[in-house]
Amino acid sequence: MVTAIYPGTFDPITNGHIDIAVRSARLFSEVVIGIFGKPEKEVLFSLEERVALAREAVKEYNNIRVESYTGLTVDFARKCSAQVLVRGLRVSGDFEFEFSMAMMNRQLDPELEMVCLMATPKFQFLSSSILKEVARLNGDIGDFVPPHIARALKEKQQKLKPQA
Ligand code: ADP
Repeated sequence: MVTAIYPGTFDPITNGHIDIAVRSARLFSEVVIGIFGKPEKEVLFSLEERVALAREAVKEYNNIRVESYTGLTVDFARKCSAQVLVRGLRVSGDFEFEFSMAMMNRQLDPELEMVCLMATPKFQFLSSSILKEVARLNGDIGDFVPPHIARALKEKQQKLKPQA
């Protein structure tokens, strides 16, 4: 039995993330989406919101679960008894960042193997930050997130928009 963690910020989870999680769940017995609670970047959704949105998005898959964590990713992997760390790779610049993170994680825990899955072509350009920008400007995001996330973004954006 091989357990994989799929860590990230997921602010919010997108169809690109879900695609990686679902494909990983075909390769490994169990996938734990690990939502990082203390990212350096500013987040739109609280940790609790990001977890709830991700849980709803993958609820039909019985070998995918969602947990939050705040410390080192390698410690989260140990806590989950995971042997594999999954990340997604898009064409645009992910490789160098992922490569250096992988080198550091290998130093911290040589037992944890990293597996990168290539993003599906239609999600190559999709990131949570581009998604939030399109939502903020009232663009159609229906192809990029499940309906409950489109709704959550709409509500959040309305609250954040400065009053005219
Ligand atoms: P982080 O802040 O850790 O990069 P993200 O939530 O932005 O967290 O991304 C988590 C992982 O998912 C990263 O490995 C990222 O490259 C990958 N990812 C993000 N968007 C996509 C996408 N559209 N297709 C495939 N992988 C993606």
